[in-house]
Amino acid sequence: MRLNNGIEIPQIGYGVFEIPKEITKQCVLNALKAGYRHIDTAFAYGNEKEVGEAIRESGIPREEIFVTTKIYGSRSYEEACQKIERALSVLDIGYIDLMLIHWPEGDNVAAYRAMEDYYRQGKLRSIGLSNFYNEELDNILNNTEVVPVLDQIEAHIFKNQKEMQQILESKGILLEAWSPLAQTKFDLFNNPTLVAIAKKHNKTVAQVVLRYLYQRGCIILPRSKNEERIKENINILDFSLDDEDNLNIDKLNQNRGVFDDRH
Ligand code: NDP
Repeated sequence: MRLNNGIEIPQIGYGVFEIPKEITKQCVLNALKAGYRHIDTAFAYGNEKEVGEAIRESGIPREEIFVTTKIYGSRSYEEACQKIERALSVLDIGYIDLMLIHWPEGDNVAAYRAMEDYYRQGKLRSIGLSNFYNEELDNILNNTEVVPVLDQIEAHIFKNQKEMQQILESKGILLEAWSPLAQTKFDLFNNPTLVAIAKKHNKTVAQVVLRYLYQRGCIILPRSKNEERIKENINILDFSLDDEDNLNIDKLNQNRGVFDDRH
């Protein structure tokens, strides 16, 4: 897909949340071997160094891989600059394709202005947000210059975020879906609607729910430690959901988040 600054982003990325650092390098190498060219990490995941190692050792030209990382909780412009410098140094892949503020916390405008300055220097090829809604999103849009390229938010069939997608797209911002497999919660794989649609297309339930977001123009970041499932999750380009499938999947929306039961 094309971001609002003209840069291209592969619509399917490989997410590394909760992948232990001991196996991250191998998992990322497996994802690259399976054809992924977009990796999503974060300071908070504790595995940026291993992501960088995999990219450097993969033998794939740097410019063919899109790498996202995230910072959070900056109390000032200077602190955000330190966090950006740290990410550039730990990843050690020259530049970062996309940096996000992971969630609103601290002085978000100051942090975003720091990212803008690194963007202007070319050390960050694009900048955006994660988990920003309503006033927090408007605060950035009203007080900074570079429009975020995307907002990475929770989106899956049980929290389908159609309304939020419209709001974002009206501002030139793409929706990037985190937990696109709903972390396999809410008995996802036994859902009768999804099982029937998967059977009809001779695909798996995971492929159906990923394809649903993909067809809506969301960027998706499935995560798996398993080599076969890594391949399965990117193998969604050889079928399409029809209008009836999409309508039936829309009906599964409950605006229910994967971490809602924590509260
Ligand atoms: P996902 O929705 O991608 O689900 C991951 C789970 O699904 C794992 O338990 C995995 O198990 C299982 N799984 C993966 N593929 C299959 C399959 N084909 N069949 C059956 N089970 C499968 O969860 P995440 O929460 O990790 O979200 C994806 C990415 O989004 C993250 O890795 C991260 O990059 C990003 N994210 C961002 C957040 C933010 O605040 N910005 C918050 C949360 C996530 P197994 O490994 O055994 O295959």
